Amino acid sequence: MRTMPLMLKTTLSYCAAGALDLLFPRVCAACCIRIREPAALCTDCAVRLAAQINPSYCGCCGEDVGPFLLRDGRCPQCRNSRPGYARMYRVARYADAMRDLILRFKYGREPTLDAMLGDLLADLVAGCRELDGVTAWVPIPSPRRRIWQRGFQPTRLLADRLSLRTGRPRCDALRLIRRVTPQKLLHRDERTANIHGAFGVRRGELPHGAIVGLVDDVFTTGATLREAARTLRRAGAAEVYGVVLAVAHVGADVPAQV
Ligand SMILES: [Zn+2]
Ligand SMILES: [Zn+2]
Repeated sequence: MRTMPLMLKTTLSYCAAGALDLLFPRVCAACCIRIREPAALCTDCAVRLAAQINPSYCGCCGEDVGPFLLRDGRCPQCRNSRPGYARMYRVARYADAMRDLILRFKYGREPTLDAMLGDLLADLVAGCRELDGVTAWVPIPSPRRRIWQRGFQPTRLLADRLSLRTGRPRCDALRLIRRVTPQKLLHRDERTANIHGAFGVRRGELPHGAIVGLVDDVFTTGATLREAARTLRRAGAAEVYGVVLAVAHVGADVPAQV
């Protein structure tokens, strides 16, 4: 009889969990299948996401590069590049589970994804000593029309999570000062011209000598990050680092940002 209260408790907790599952079914954040375990991803998606995370990549163009080809963190093609940012850091390649997560984050906003993807960035930052000196997280701005359509700005949510985790502020220093064609619609060679001169800095928002962590979700050719970094440097930032969720190859089905 002594075991009855425990059995009753266990049974009740299963019933409660079952009822909660019926009311709020737990699903994988990437593929949406039902899961029982209290995790954001199903086992299959967690494994697929892990496969997209490769710590050996170029800190300028973001491409996967074998560790023996990297010199000062750069691939042979980028050794003499001057992109305007000191280095870019990425969580993963834009493929598979990471692509599913980003698409769901941008097109079907869910609070759990804000936190989950923001935490992936925060974990990346925590592992990079160079980023200890960042004094402000600056999100790459979206066109106003797109913010109205979505009701939120994805990069700002990511910067908010970084701010929460690191204790350093989000700074909305950048703004778009003219209309631009979504970069995904353009050829690689057209993207730099499309974004050239498109950013301005809000007066008084950027402290002089700031060390900026520029926050973006997807990096493709790097044209947006380069232009944003140069704009911030001209406005007085001492250093700029790029911090992105994923790096896509040109031609990948990337959601439009700018
Ligand atoms: Zn899944
Ligand atoms: Zn490179």
